[in-house]
Amino acid sequence: MRSTKRIGLIGGMSWESTALYYQLINQGVAERLGGLHSADCLLASVDFATVAELQAEDRWDEAGDLLAEKARTLEAAGADLLLLCTNTMHKVAPAIEAAVGIPLLHIIDITADAARSQGLRRLGLLATGFTMGQPFYRDRIGTHGLETIIPDSDDRELVHRIIYDELCRGMVTDDSRQRMRAVIDDLVARGADGVILGCTEIELLIKPGDSPVPVLATTALHAAAAVDAALS
Ligand code: GLU
Repeated sequence: MRSTKRIGLIGGMSWESTALYYQLINQGVAERLGGLHSADCLLASVDFATVAELQAEDRWDEAGDLLAEKARTLEAAGADLLLLCTNTMHKVAPAIEAAVGIPLLHIIDITADAARSQGLRRLGLLATGFTMGQPFYRDRIGTHGLETIIPDSDDRELVHRIIYDELCRGMVTDDSRQRMRAVIDDLVARGADGVILGCTEIELLIKPGDSPVPVLATTALHAAAAVDAALS
């Protein structure tokens, strides 16, 4: 007998941020239900090297097939809703949504809702090169009436490198935090009134105090939305 909905996590992209999702979701359920309560959840975790190779080789359809298969596995195992634990791979969210009958809680919509509820309108975007450079993320943010500003090309390269070479490998350094803070300052100087930490590892490095404007921590927002949905 289950009293909450079962959350299916498609994770491993990277596992460093999936671990944070698992922690936040369990903490959220414990805070809401008290006692020894924890989340009813399932995790399908991919080998990130495979996904990163498909990204780098522009083989997004194959990546979509791989994640759709994970989604089907989670649905068959009884998941009531799905979380794709990465911003970048929401590029292939339509393939996942088409593969299952259960809802995918879309990280971009959840982030946009949080921005709007804080009255933010012009958002700096820190993310992988794919997420910053391709239209899928910014266009969907735009459907919520919000504007995005991305770093210049040197800074995009820097942020991308910090994500793949450090954060996805469990390295969190003061040097990269200082560099990321400088990128944020530049976005704010260009008019950003909020900053999307649009990669699920960035909040391992950047905290609200590192930014002069509010940060939208996508992992925390996504995890909180999953807890709400599971308990609703
Ligand atoms: N976790 C990251 C994101 O939120 C990057 C890893 C990936 O490419 O999935 O975009």
